[in-house]
Amino acid sequence: MRLGHHLTIQNGHLHIGGHDCISLARQYGTPLYVTSEDRVCEQFLSYRKALSARYPKVQVLFAAKANGNLAVMRALARLGAGADIFSSGELTLALAAGMAPEKLLFNGSSKTPADLKLAVEKGVKVSVDSLDELHQLDAAARAAGTTAKIAFRVNPALEVPTHPKIATGLATSKFGIPHREIPAAYREALACSNILSVGIHCHIGSQILDVEPFARAAEVMVRIAKEITETGVNLEFIDLGGGLGIPYHHDTDPAPTPEDYAAKVVPVFKAGVEACGITPELWVEPGRSLTADSTVLLTRVNSTKAAHKRFANVDAGFNLLIRPAMYDAYHEVIVANKADRPLTTEYTVTGPICESGDILAPDRKLPQLEAGDIIAVLDAGAYGFAMSSQYNSRPRCPEVLVRGPDAALMRRGETVGDLTSTMEQPPWQR
Ligand code: PLP
Repeated sequence: MRLGHHLTIQNGHLHIGGHDCISLARQYGTPLYVTSEDRVCEQFLSYRKALSARYPKVQVLFAAKANGNLAVMRALARLGAGADIFSSGELTLALAAGMAPEKLLFNGSSKTPADLKLAVEKGVKVSVDSLDELHQLDAAARAAGTTAKIAFRVNPALEVPTHPKIATGLATSKFGIPHREIPAAYREALACSNILSVGIHCHIGSQILDVEPFARAAEVMVRIAKEITETGVNLEFIDLGGGLGIPYHHDTDPAPTPEDYAAKVVPVFKAGVEACGITPELWVEPGRSLTADSTVLLTRVNSTKAAHKRFANVDAGFNLLIRPAMYDAYHEVIVANKADRPLTTEYTVTGPICESGDILAPDRKLPQLEAGDIIAVLDAGAYGFAMSSQYNSRPRCPEVLVRGPDAALMRRGETVGDLTSTMEQPPWQR
């Protein structure tokens, strides 16, 4: 199987960033998320390099929803990353990680009054998703005696080749304002006393393995940019969103790189802004392609069973990695302590959750398994821990970060005490 250069096989063991996964599993226990900080940084820098080689004003924002660990965000912040944030929690994390407020864009189609107030107080730009929200934000900014800087989220009505649950720019999606109504929205914003329109934003979907749709989105965006520039809006940035996919099937999926993305998208963007006579910053907000392949989820085989097929029952399920259950997503798996053994036997790797759908990896050829083996689920660094839950009252597992020769916890494992710590006893039960 093709592996990223941060994943190697030495003495039959899978290593991540030079660290033996089996030693890490022994030290920290399983299940265990392990992330290579160097890999995350490398991906970020490749985005920035590819874009800034073609256009002088570039800002790479990390989509914080993909991986909300502060240590990951801090590593990116140190490289100058901003963030696409989708909640007050993500806003707080991004600031705590050291990201500059002016590099944050508060997205989302359903923000609360508290979200808008916090964005205004912290001087964070807001991607406005409706006219109702525009007027609420105007009022929040007025109450705070300030001006809110905004972009409108454009719904470009584009079909994209991905899972329907992660296509976000379809005409029928819940996100954004239909592209034809966008110029009117900017006119309405011009009439708001405490709103300053400085950008325009879209995001067409996630896990898109073809760069062509991004170029089509850029076309829509620069066409609208021209129209709104003519009505007097001074665009400081155009945000084309995230969405570049990763090759979850290592040997067969296309593997578009930030370089491929930039080569396709930037010429369209450049020609478009030149036609407008403006030089706004080009913003992108990748999540998955920055962090997915940096991380493995290590999970122990609790038991094997030969029924109508062979099952390997492991200690991580959709409580820790929901993508297979939610999107029928594919993740490569490697038996980390038998990584050089022949793949002789077909197993379905199943989690410990009380749901038939708790299958991490169906029908995989693996070495003969026994209890105690450690399976590494690859590409688990985006929408992995971030979408985890405590379902079946299972405390979430720890996360370890490795960088160079160092390895350390970046999140301790939860305990059963953590599960009950937020629960209250209603007075009549006392
Ligand atoms: N920006 C917005 C507004 C999003 O909703 C998302 C993901 O859903 C992203 C960026 C990141 O997408 P991806 O992780 O596919 O790069």
